[in-house]
Amino acid sequence: MLLALPVALWEFYKPMRVLAPELNGLICINEKICIDDIRKAEDAELLYLESASLTNNAIGDFNHNPRTIFCTTEECYRSFGFQSPSVAHAVGTSGVVISPRGWSNTKIIHEFVHHIQAERIGVISMLFKPDWLIEGMAYYISNDIMHNVPQRYIEAKIRFEKWYIEIGNEKMWETAKNL
Ligand SMILES: [Zn+2]
Repeated sequence: MLLALPVALWEFYKPMRVLAPELNGLICINEKICIDDIRKAEDAELLYLESASLTNNAIGDFNHNPRTIFCTTEECYRSFGFQSPSVAHAVGTSGVVISPRGWSNTKIIHEFVHHIQAERIGVISMLFKPDWLIEGMAYYISNDIMHNVPQRYIEAKIRFEKWYIEIGNEKMWETAKNL
């Protein structure tokens, strides 16, 4: 698969490197977890398991487990094309990149929610969905305390919560797709 990727795209669109983190100098300990410092592998594995199970219990299973890249340095995070103040990033349905500031269930669940949104709603369709649905769901399901978060996301979370309680869990995806 990697050989099929044009070199120019590889250079230009760094998040694509999620597809082959080994080329960025990372070690993949299994299909789900890649890391730049193998000494932190156990912490990463535990965070992955906890975050995945909390996310799946709340909004459903993954179609494919998100490949998750745990960076212990900003340099690693930047090598995927991301930087502070962003703490973590989902890349379509390909995977998730976690910065050294994003090693918490809250931040990882947030990105796992975006991963499931991409699987259920579609990467392109997601761009046309309201912010309160996409970001509100991620902040609400991850139980974020909203410290240092822009006001529009605080409002998004409140709006999502109201909608979610009204709609109920079972009809959520079906209704979300038609919004
Ligand atoms: Zn988000």
